[in-house]
Amino acid sequence: MADGAGTRAVVLGGSMAGLLAARVLSERFTEVLLVDRDRLTGVATYRPGVPHGRHAHGLVARGHQILEEHFPGLTGNLVAAGVRPGDFNGDIRWLFNGRRIAPSHSGLGCVPATRPVLENQVRLRVQAIPNVRFVEGHDVLGLETTADRSRVTGARVQRHDGGAPAETLDADLVLDTTGRGSRTPLWLEELGYGRPEEERIKIDLAYTTRHYRLRADPFGGDLAIIPAATPRTPRGAFFFPISGGEGLVELSLTGILGDHPPTDPDGFLDFARSLPIPDIHESIKDAEPLDDPVTFKYPASVRRHYERLADFPSGLLVMGDAVCTFNPVYAQGMTVSALGSLVLRRHLERGTEPDARAFFRDLSREIDSPWELAAGSDLGYAGVRGKRSAKVRFVNAYVARLQDAAVNDPTLANAFIRVAGLVDPPASLMLPRHVVRVLRGSRRSPAAHGNHDSSPSAPTERPFDASLPSRVPPGGHRRPEPETGRDPLAR
Ligand SMILES: Cc1cc2nc3c(=O)[nH]c(=O)nc-3n(C[C@H](O)[C@H](O)[C@H](O)COP(=O)(O)OP(=O)(O)OC[C@H]3O[C@@H](n4cnc5c(N)ncnc54)[C@H](O)[C@@H]3O)c2cc1C
Repeated sequence: MADGAGTRAVVLGGSMAGLLAARVLSERFTEVLLVDRDRLTGVATYRPGVPHGRHAHGLVARGHQILEEHFPGLTGNLVAAGVRPGDFNGDIRWLFNGRRIAPSHSGLGCVPATRPVLENQVRLRVQAIPNVRFVEGHDVLGLETTADRSRVTGARVQRHDGGAPAETLDADLVLDTTGRGSRTPLWLEELGYGRPEEERIKIDLAYTTRHYRLRADPFGGDLAIIPAATPRTPRGAFFFPISGGEGLVELSLTGILGDHPPTDPDGFLDFARSLPIPDIHESIKDAEPLDDPVTFKYPASVRRHYERLADFPSGLLVMGDAVCTFNPVYAQGMTVSALGSLVLRRHLERGTEPDARAFFRDLSREIDSPWELAAGSDLGYAGVRGKRSAKVRFVNAYVARLQDAAVNDPTLANAFIRVAGLVDPPASLMLPRHVVRVLRGSRRSPAAHGNHDSSPSAPTERPFDASLPSRVPPGGHRRPEPETGRDPLAR
């Protein structure tokens, strides 16, 4: 590292986790090489190495905070690229079981960009770091180690077009961010370390996505309409305006346990019609499709427990989806990569080479909450196999009641959005002041299947106006109760 232990870090994989890692490594290493099989620079559209990038990618609030910390002014860059920022609760129409939770100003930012737009803006900022170099269009073939295999000394790479012999990139630290297909488990086995234990939650999920030019504006100033998938209403959607022209939208439909949104246009429309709210189908049925529906299948969430390995070579770390991938409907992956970059920074700040076991232990602690949220919620679906502890059953029942109560309670809506945004820990929902509201509120606001209150409900015939200001003033339509002091509903 620049402060003593070495000079070059090589990052394998230049997607979100790799870019964030490179940002942090650049603070400590003289040189950081970022290797990817795709061409990266100048690419502002979908690329083959990230096929999931064609589908809706929301950056939840904690991820937005960390990205802005790594790249001050990034929100402004995104706005300049045509993205309209807003409030993570007040400006997004979150619907659970067909009903909108109370919109109110949460004070948490959001930037609803498509994945290629977000990644491109982050990449432009990383490209501007003088000691980061992109090694594009190169496949990673394997690791180089010392003769006794105790230390990784670099990576073997080859031009993706095969037009040159393989070469070795020497490194003081190699960081694998090649995503869920990472070959580190295999490489470790070949080196005699054994594979990390894997936890898998099979969900057989699929996203199918299509882009449209709408004729009327269904958003009424909101930044997105998100009927979230829940065990009661397992079909979900992400529907939001995108940059590039008036009326352009991205629509990702999601279906779990083999109930996949079809790719034929009629089937896609039918699936949209079956959502618990009519707004989305009403908007797209007469809209101009801009492409064919494209699907992405996601069989299982996978967590690799590197922290449980008894031994690990020095000079190697792993981050991002290569360690853990989550059911994407909870929109956690990029933010967990961002949290991983903070763990990496803390370990680099010690001024010595990061200790792999300590790094993975800390990374695992960051993953615990989002994994618990995602895997626990998935176990709420009767068809998802896995052990349902009493805690999982209790939390799922409680969260369902909380979502019902949050329809009329901005305080609860914000508390929930802060947890979903990975800003507050899940345990915060169990604070006595929230429990009281949930118990009272869910009695007043029982689950109503088929209640299509997505306010505003039907698409308006209003023409598009990209300059519409946020509809929710700071403090919200219905101002949330203060977070401190006596609960006003408590007797
Ligand atoms: C359908 C879907 C929707 C999602 N929606 C959201 C969302 O709303 N919000 C959210 O936060 N997250 C979402 N995610 C998760 C998110 O995409 C990832 O968590 C995030 O991209 C971080 O991934 P990564 O950088 O670790 O890996 P990836 O994005 O998978 O990138 C891996 C990179 O490594 C490169 N690579 C791989 N193998 C090699 C090799 N051998 N040689 C050279 N290069 C290689 C690839 O080209 C690629 O650039 C979603 C995922 C899916 C599947």
